[in-house]
Amino acid sequence: MFISYHDILRYVIDKAKLVQENERLRSAMTCKKCKITSFETLFLPCRHLASCEKCASNMENCVTCNEEILGTVRVYVM
Ligand SMILES: [Zn+2]
Ligand SMILES: [Zn+2]
Repeated sequence: MFISYHDILRYVIDKAKLVQENERLRSAMTCKKCKITSFETLFLPCRHLASCEKCASNMENCVTCNEEILGTVRVYVM
């Protein structure tokens, strides 16, 4: 089997894109407040998913839309 330099190059670029995409997804799924823990709490009534459980317990207004939080729901992403 013959693998050209271009095939290798394409493979490397695809891999790099995948890593970048994973990185982007991971940061997009991180708590908007502490930026460490992945978000896992859904705010009610606005239904924004933007914060970890710990930060949510200290929050009175949603980080995304600033609506008053009347309740929270623990969600499981995976
Ligand atoms: Zn947090
Ligand atoms: Zn909101």
